[in-house]
Amino acid sequence: MLPVLSALTDLLYPPSCWACGSSLERQAQALCGACALVPLGEACRRCGEPQGPGASTMEDCDTCRGRPLAFSRVAALGRYEGGLRRAVQRAKFEGELGAWAWMGKALADHVAALPWAGEVDAVVPVPSTWRARLARGANPAALLAGAVSRRLERPRRPWLLRRPTPPQVGLGRRERLANVEGAFRISPEATPSGLRLLLVDDVMTTGATVDVCARALKAAGALRVDVAVAAR
Ligand SMILES: [Zn+2]
Ligand SMILES: [Zn+2]
Repeated sequence: MLPVLSALTDLLYPPSCWACGSSLERQAQALCGACALVPLGEACRRCGEPQGPGASTMEDCDTCRGRPLAFSRVAALGRYEGGLRRAVQRAKFEGELGAWAWMGKALADHVAALPWAGEVDAVVPVPSTWRARLARGANPAALLAGAVSRRLERPRRPWLLRRPTPPQVGLGRRERLANVEGAFRISPEATPSGLRLLLVDDVMTTGATVDVCARALKAAGALRVDVAVAAR
């Protein structure tokens, strides 16, 4: 069967867990019990960083208190660990388009259920470099943003452009910031003025990338920028 067709069939009837490959008992599942999502739980209301039990989710975490962030809040399917981490890595490095499709649908359902879902005017994917797109066979953020945009019935706007930068893997917070600073610019066709935007990416680690993107959109007049990621 053609790869695309088999990915579609797998999406409708996933034969095995996206993370570990073990067979699934129920067809409606995408991850087995052992690989289940770990929700963010008690997390900073702004950056989504998981906090210790008993922490107030109404307060910014220590890191956020020390830096003014351009985005307002983060929605995530779950923590970047366990089954979700493996599913993201399979999708990224093994080109599992069906896994992105599953994450897109799950993220769209998650975002649509949030109390502030109705406040989103447009969905903006974080662009990946053409080199990363070639390696992965897809632009994950664009696939996820497409699913969220369809579910919320809000337009998807590719308003950010990216210059090639070295990979972020293995860099500390400060080095990542220097790396992404200047990597993004606003498309000449962008009209974000006065809009509340939802920025979509696959994985958020330090938040440096989404912060730089959010700052660029706000500098171009966006009223508010929130963030949705598959994994945090
Ligand atoms: Zn599994
Ligand atoms: Zn925080």
